Amino acid sequence: MPPRDTLVITVRLKPGRCRWCGCTWNDPCPPGCAWTDGSQTLCTECAAFDALVRKAGGRREAVETFDIGRETAESA
Ligand SMILES: [Zn+2]
Ligand SMILES: [Zn+2]
Repeated sequence: MPPRDTLVITVRLKPGRCRWCGCTWNDPCPPGCAWTDGSQTLCTECAAFDALVRKAGGRREAVETFDIGRETAESA
């Protein structure tokens, strides 16, 4: 039986667009950001969040720390 508050995070990888915030080279995050990977799917603003999400135990922490909604996380 799956636990009720399982958090499902689906990531769409599209080169040239950040997987989390959706920023692009022409429309970067407010303070300015850069790609952290060669495929251009993760920007520097979201690198910390991505690192947390990659750890199984870090997912809940990531959601709380970065205040993303459950709905957002499931449909992103
Ligand atoms: Zn980003
Ligand atoms: Zn960005």
